[in-house]
Amino acid sequence: MLRTDHLKHLEHQVFDLCIIGGGASGVGAALDAALRGMKVVLIEKNDFAAETSSRSTKLIHGGVRYLEQAIKNLDFAQLRQVRHGLAERHTVLRNAPHLTRPLALVTPVSTWIEGLYFSIGLKMYDWFASGKDTLPGSNWLTKKEALDRLPGLSKKMHSAVLYYDGQLDDARYALALAQAAAQAGATVLNHAAVTGFQKDVSGKLKTALVTDQLTNSTFQVNARAFLNCCGPFADTIRMMANPHVSPRIRPSKGVHITLPADVTGSISDAILIPKTSDGRVVFAVPFAGKLIVGTTDTEINDLHEEPAANAAEVDFLLETLNRYLEKPALKHQVSAGFGGLRPLISAKAEPGTSTKTLLRDHEVEHDAVSGLVSLMGGKWTTYRLMARDAVDAVCQQTGCDNPCITEEHYLPGAVGWSADLPEELKQEFGVSLATARHLSHNYGSLARTVMAMTANFPEGKELILPDFPFLKIEIAYAVQHEMACTLRDFLARRIRLELLDWEATIRAVPVVADWMAKALGWTDLQREQAAQAYLNLLKGFQANLQQKQ
Ligand SMILES: Cc1cc2nc3c(=O)[nH]c(=O)nc-3n(C[C@H](O)[C@H](O)[C@H](O)COP(=O)(O)OP(=O)(O)OC[C@H]3O[C@@H](n4cnc5c(N)ncnc54)[C@H](O)[C@@H]3O)c2cc1C
Repeated sequence: MLRTDHLKHLEHQVFDLCIIGGGASGVGAALDAALRGMKVVLIEKNDFAAETSSRSTKLIHGGVRYLEQAIKNLDFAQLRQVRHGLAERHTVLRNAPHLTRPLALVTPVSTWIEGLYFSIGLKMYDWFASGKDTLPGSNWLTKKEALDRLPGLSKKMHSAVLYYDGQLDDARYALALAQAAAQAGATVLNHAAVTGFQKDVSGKLKTALVTDQLTNSTFQVNARAFLNCCGPFADTIRMMANPHVSPRIRPSKGVHITLPADVTGSISDAILIPKTSDGRVVFAVPFAGKLIVGTTDTEINDLHEEPAANAAEVDFLLETLNRYLEKPALKHQVSAGFGGLRPLISAKAEPGTSTKTLLRDHEVEHDAVSGLVSLMGGKWTTYRLMARDAVDAVCQQTGCDNPCITEEHYLPGAVGWSADLPEELKQEFGVSLATARHLSHNYGSLARTVMAMTANFPEGKELILPDFPFLKIEIAYAVQHEMACTLRDFLARRIRLELLDWEATIRAVPVVADWMAKALGWTDLQREQAAQAYLNLLKGFQANLQQKQ
């Protein structure tokens, strides 16, 4: 997946479908449409999954909380949403086992009655999931069993309940979908923004005006149909296509903070905190050897600023988590943070309604005036169903009658992967077990292709940082095979270090900048500028945590 090759594919073509936005929805739709035989192009303004889709809690879930709300309110739409999520949980896990894993979530309870209440709810969750699913069922744990799993939990609990959902590496899952779409014939381009449209005589969209964000050059993409997958930014594209439509998206900011895993004492089990002071749930989930804790829920209006974590949000998350810990986590232990925008849709987009009660389900809108199809709302877990519904709507317009076949489509790295791969990589390439595990997780069976590149770059076997498992060769691989174009593409989304540890990311910048400069032919000045701009961004995030808002 070399960017220059994909740029060339754009010239003098008329595509069946142009997808705008390369988050979970867009890359999912690109794969779906390409597998149906359409000639597809996907245009992403930033990097694949750079926005919400790399900043989720990384759960593949039906939503235990939604089930509780659905039952309490006899809300069948919400019940359907839980069922969809649980059905998809199985598919998302199976189609890329290297990027996903079953996740045990534990909730300490303070009374026997509370334990009974949650246990009954979780049995219903198990029951809704039954069928395809192979995850273990829920369980009521004694206090000792809970502390054996998570030694950092407060001893004040009565007992705890446990259930299973899935976990995914969100940014890498999106990348695998983009790669799968490219393998199926799609042209995919990151760092290219749609800035306007041209229409035919009947007012229907026919051309997207695109600006390459890396070179500032502009070009046109012609297509028979256009699908807006811009998540929280969907209204901008809807109004670009037809200025008379009303806004539908109510973006809500959610942040996470990163702590050392020894805060809870487990690198495998998560904690679900069922009730926060503002009436929501918070998760503390192990991810890549750290613990990510989130999330908040704040309605926002400014879509231009990155929704970075601030000091008040850090205080709220620490305070919420610390109620469940024997030894409180401290602010200085926060090694990183990240925020995303939920692309919530509201039926009427009424100002005044709380974002917590808005449906997290998806909607496909067809604007009869411009012809634009917009996919809005949803969640990572149901990206495939969302993509299917959106491409079905496009098919109605274009007359394609091939059905969706993504359910059984394994993603790159899945075929040939097994849980034994880390041990095999360790033997074959002489890397540490930590590095072998990381390679197996990040690339699945393609880890061997990554390591094969060290034949030409022997120093690629060196670590980027002595205290993390990442290899220098991954930088070259990310440029040549994963369309990484910037330092942040690599550090935040290809190896996820930015989400884990800002100080370590700062230390990694010089090495990554050197390797990327070589791979992308940057001048010394370009390398320096890229490094400085990224360092300034990271330092800005660090400063943000210190300032009271
Ligand atoms: C804090 C938080 C936690 C979450 N946790 C979970 C979870 O645990 N499990 C779960 O299932 N779901 C979760 N979600 C929901 C899930 O992450 C989102 O529903 C999903 O990622 C949205 O994907 P998307 O593709 O619609 O939007 P995005 O990922 O935001 O993608 C939209 C893309 O459009 C691009 N774009 C915008 N304008 C243009 C333009 N003019 N030209 C080209 N491209 C453009 C953007 O750059 C962006 O990449 C969470 C969401 C948040 C915010």
